[in-house]
Amino acid sequence: MSLLVVGSVAYDALESPYGKVERTLGGAATYFAVAASFFTSVNLVAVVGEDFTAQDEAVFRRRRVDIEGLERAAGKCFFWAGRYTENLNDRVTLATELNVFAEFKPKLPPQYRTSKYVFLANIAPDLQCDVLHQVQGKPKIAAMDTMNYWIERTNSELRETLKHVDLLMINDAETRQLSNEHNLLRAARHIFTMGPSTLVVKRGEYGAMLVDQSGVFCLPAFPLDEPHDPTGAGDSFAGGFMGYLARVGSRNDAALRRAMVYGSVLGSFAVERFGLDRLLHLKKAEIHARARHFAKLTQFKL
Ligand code: AMP
Repeated sequence: MSLLVVGSVAYDALESPYGKVERTLGGAATYFAVAASFFTSVNLVAVVGEDFTAQDEAVFRRRRVDIEGLERAAGKCFFWAGRYTENLNDRVTLATELNVFAEFKPKLPPQYRTSKYVFLANIAPDLQCDVLHQVQGKPKIAAMDTMNYWIERTNSELRETLKHVDLLMINDAETRQLSNEHNLLRAARHIFTMGPSTLVVKRGEYGAMLVDQSGVFCLPAFPLDEPHDPTGAGDSFAGGFMGYLARVGSRNDAALRRAMVYGSVLGSFAVERFGLDRLLHLKKAEIHARARHFAKLTQFKL
């Protein structure tokens, strides 16, 4: 089953205690699409500027990522710069330049409109909503991400988009900010009144938690010796999670739990090197080996 994603395709400047890159291919939809392409084909909706290189386009062309929905516009690509502190948990955004995204009006190619799996990656909520409205019929899963930037600047548009999705996938700070609740279970109940019936909270080095009507499922993060750059971990998690669900075509409890594992696996690979580097060299066998490792890591007898 193919999976539709809308979100940023960007150039990023990244700094962490392990190094620095001045300009590298990034963006939420980029990490998502590359991660999900290990499981299923992906249809990408985004906009890039005249500075988008053929070499970066090849990242999608070489994978199962269809870029007919990747528009080219006059101007520059979305640009984001961020710096991580010593423990890699805290991030400071140094620059967010919307550039071509400021005027973007997404238009889905006809073959994307029947998508059954839709992921609205982190981008302006009115663009997310616009894409969802162009999808014909009800998707099996419509999921979305967002961040503090949109919660603060475009709260009413975000509330409108939330009414139309089944699953919200955000980090713990965003969960608290959106719901005004510190406790994550209370926050989940509050978020369910906004539209989604499933909440996935990404908790960085503390793992991830899924809450829905049938209960709670928690998973630790994969223990790593030396993570280098957390950029894109959340989007890669989302790509692994949604890619797996689209591949198996199910959303029962067992499938959701396995999707959490594949999300965590892809997120853990993403942080091992700077930018997209590790995902671009990843092999399917490594993904399955790490998923098996997860099973061992979390198994116990009573
Ligand atoms: P993550 O580390 O998973 O939060 O995602 C990082 C990616 O999100 C980077 O590659 C950025 O290009 C992209 N990004 C950062 N801020 C925004 C924003 N306001 N809207 C859309 N994408 C963003």
